[in-house]
Amino acid sequence: MRFCALGSGSEGNAWIVESEGTQGSVTATRVMIDCGFTLRETVARLSSRGLTPADLQGVLVTHEHDDHVGGVFRFARKFGTPVYSTMGTFMASVRARLVDVSWLQEGKVRIFNPETAWSIGDLHIQPFTVPHDAAEPAQFVVTDGRHRFGIMTDCGMATPHIVERLSGCDALVLESNHDADMLHRSDYPGSLKRRISGDYGHLSNDAAHAILSAIDRDSLRCLVAAHLSQNTNSPERVRESWLGTLQVYGGEFCFADQHSGLDWRTL
Ligand SMILES: [Zn+2]
Ligand SMILES: [Zn+2]
Repeated sequence: MRFCALGSGSEGNAWIVESEGTQGSVTATRVMIDCGFTLRETVARLSSRGLTPADLQGVLVTHEHDDHVGGVFRFARKFGTPVYSTMGTFMASVRARLVDVSWLQEGKVRIFNPETAWSIGDLHIQPFTVPHDAAEPAQFVVTDGRHRFGIMTDCGMATPHIVERLSGCDALVLESNHDADMLHRSDYPGSLKRRISGDYGHLSNDAAHAILSAIDRDSLRCLVAAHLSQNTNSPERVRESWLGTLQVYGGEFCFADQHSGLDWRTL
């Protein structure tokens, strides 16, 4: 199994997860998680990872915020890629005029329950619910029978359920959105500060670290800090905050960023 990011942050997100073809097939299964980029940008970023749109068997949507869903339906319309979404996320996208409700009847969007697992080719997808200010957000754990990849961005606070879901991953992509002091001192309006730091906003470095400390990390060997704010955070601040765990963690630790995403990581 391998994965990469085409970009990560408030200006656009997209991740690719690829199986090894474990069911005896030589063809790997590949899915994209979110697409917050324009069509042209998405195709260019896929190409930089050696992929074309036809290589993707589906696009999974986490929630309807523009940095995650902004490019999903345009991409699916152009290339015929099946979209997987919760009903809440889909209907919010309809209200935002990103997609027509007829996609439901035509089967172009496949609705999933945010706690019910399903498979796409060799990939087993386990969604899970998170507290975030969207209609029906979900994040994912993806397995191919050998490895377990967890991703969670856009989450306001830790819950016991999240800790359970993210335990036992070989690779983990975890939001570490902001440094609490930098956010407090920033020139953002008070309402925005309250939204970001609220229970349905985004994870601070320390809140992300609390989740990281609580999960079972025995098989973890690739840890990625993601969705960092370009205004209220820095990789140095994340390292400082996560130091307690990083000092006893023996695997790879890296960052996914807005501009260059994250190159392929193989498990
Ligand atoms: Zn986001
Ligand atoms: Zn969001």
